Amino acid sequence: MPHKNIEEILIPGNRINKRVVAIARKISRDYRNKDLVFVGVLKGCALFLSDLIKEINMDCSVDFICLSSYSGAQSTGVVRTILDLRQNIENKDVLVVEDIVDSGLTMNYLLRNLKTRRPRSIRVCTLLDKPSCRKVSIPIAYAGFKIPNKFVVGYGLDHNELYRNLPYIGVLKNSAI
Ligand code: 5GP
Repeated sequence: MPHKNIEEILIPGNRINKRVVAIARKISRDYRNKDLVFVGVLKGCALFLSDLIKEINMDCSVDFICLSSYSGAQSTGVVRTILDLRQNIENKDVLVVEDIVDSGLTMNYLLRNLKTRRPRSIRVCTLLDKPSCRKVSIPIAYAGFKIPNKFVVGYGLDHNELYRNLPYIGVLKNSAI
């Protein structure tokens, strides 16, 4: 039974798990012999990133950045860095891991910010992609699932800090937004 505030389960947990393993295998192949740093965008990346890196079969490091871009379900377009990386990423191969790319404004800000630190390469891995909502173009190297323009929660994604613990991606009922 889904949570009472979930309208519909969009992506069940077993589909997420299979897709995460497939992405991890591809990343392991693509970054063989590279100096890979995962940069997780908190807090939405937490479940995706931890499941993903368990399946990476090469040396890599992990760091986190925390941005604020949304308040509730509404895009403000304003992005601020709340918590910065601890590592120097100069000459590293950076893979930014996000829960969802929606308008792209957050990722656009983050990529511009991280590029000033002179990584050797920088690419984006997102669990969810809402291409119909894009306001700025974002190159996405790895995407788990393309989804329609619906507000989703679960598997790390929240609404007012709730629902991150759900093991699936679900559409939130309008009455709960
Ligand atoms: P963007 O800047 O691309 O519009 O949005 C990026 C951030 O907005 C994501 O990291 C996520 O925190 C939040 N966001 C965008 N769409 C959704 C959604 O459907 N559900 C949830 N829970 N968060 C979203």
